[in-house]
Amino acid sequence: MDFRLSEEQSDLVGVIKDFGKREVTEKFVREIMGRPALDRVPYAREQGFMRKLLDIGLKTLVVPEEYGGGGADLLTQCVATEAIAQYASVAAAFLQSSWKLCGDLAAFGTEQQKEWIFSTLASDPGFLMGSACTEPGHGVDPRLANDAPGSGLATFAFRDGDEYVINGEKCFIGSVTTNLLFVWLRTDKRGPLSRSMSCIMVPTTTEGYSVQRFNEFMTEGLRPNGDPLFDDVRVPVANLLGEENKGFLIWEGRSVYNLLWPASVVGEAQKIYELTKAEAKRRVQGGKPIYEHSNVGMKLAEMHSMIEDLRLKVYRTAWEVDEAAKTGKVVFDTLGVNLCAMAAHDVQTGTAARAAEIWGGRGALKDLPIEGYIRSAWGHLHEFGTPDICRIQSWLRLDGYEPLDSLAG
Ligand SMILES: Cc1cc2nc3c(=O)[nH]c(=O)nc-3n(C[C@H](O)[C@H](O)[C@H](O)COP(=O)(O)OP(=O)(O)OC[C@H]3O[C@@H](n4cnc5c(N)ncnc54)[C@H](O)[C@@H]3O)c2cc1C
Repeated sequence: MDFRLSEEQSDLVGVIKDFGKREVTEKFVREIMGRPALDRVPYAREQGFMRKLLDIGLKTLVVPEEYGGGGADLLTQCVATEAIAQYASVAAAFLQSSWKLCGDLAAFGTEQQKEWIFSTLASDPGFLMGSACTEPGHGVDPRLANDAPGSGLATFAFRDGDEYVINGEKCFIGSVTTNLLFVWLRTDKRGPLSRSMSCIMVPTTTEGYSVQRFNEFMTEGLRPNGDPLFDDVRVPVANLLGEENKGFLIWEGRSVYNLLWPASVVGEAQKIYELTKAEAKRRVQGGKPIYEHSNVGMKLAEMHSMIEDLRLKVYRTAWEVDEAAKTGKVVFDTLGVNLCAMAAHDVQTGTAARAAEIWGGRGALKDLPIEGYIRSAWGHLHEFGTPDICRIQSWLRLDGYEPLDSLAG
């Protein structure tokens, strides 16, 4: 076993750390997050922030090398995600989302789709993509492959000549007004969801597409989030990703890229830990820094241990996926990724709760950054469809449930 990062991975962490310290200052974060959600991406563009992310290779890190990108494997993506969450967290969510979709495209896209999207990513710093699955009546349903008749998703697309016509509504969708949404929907109204789901790419400028409301969350991020409506939206059949009615294969297959979220929790928790440790060394009570009171020291030791356990779990799962991918197959590891996500939920709330205790009243002050990090930890409990869904997914897989077997065959 070799636990060292490669030279390239260590260099990449260095580049991200320098970038974060130089460009993602507290002032910049306050300025950007103080704006309404719709103004944040345009402001980041104006400030040259998106161009700089492209210039240092982060936007195209996951684009395959043959299309001019970094071709990063999953372990490198996890290492980079962790560093971004720690040093440049304002960019974490949209880079994660974009990298996951690059992975989907690389595995399931046609040559034409890859050429179109990868070259746009490389040439347009502001180009952003999002994934639209959640619906007002269907939250965690698609994550559990709810195959009860008519259940799972209601947004529906039918073919009309060379086009798909899409009708339905989604909610809580990130990048809702930016450029391209990967929309998860039904192409068969009656079948079980795992045999009726497809993924169709929809430019957000398409006629019939609108946003019914915008959402402001307790979490912090650049991307506008909202509830879109699809009213006879027409897109070319060529925008279908993978095969019709086999979208569940992509949805599950992308589970390996979902490892990026637990990786970002490692970075966020590490940041909370370091800020809290520094505060414990500064704050004097009982005649000495509170760091020297054993109850405070014990909490810090617990935080450190939780973060280190999650980091090892994420790296090992990524390494296993990368090793398996060397055989040239599309790799699924729903169990491994859900086990990491289960742990990530515990680590983010566990470290945030300990930090809040150690910071005392100052931890709740709006003008210190720790407040935002603690708040954000609780605002991510919806990830992977909530912690219980990760537990259910893990328990089902440990019991031998594998919904993909028949589809992949
Ligand atoms: C900041 C933010 C950003 C988001 N971005 C996106 C995005 O970009 N794209 C997107 O598609 N979605 C996005 N979402 C939506 C997110 O994925 C959903 O909130 C999440 O999947 C949970 O769905 P829900 O909120 O409808 O919860 P519900 O499905 O209503 O679940 C509520 C509770 O019931 C439990 N529950 C529900 N069904 C079952 C069951 N069958 N068995 C056992 N327990 C069950 C759940 O565990 C949960 O505790 C975002 C949400 C937020 C807050």
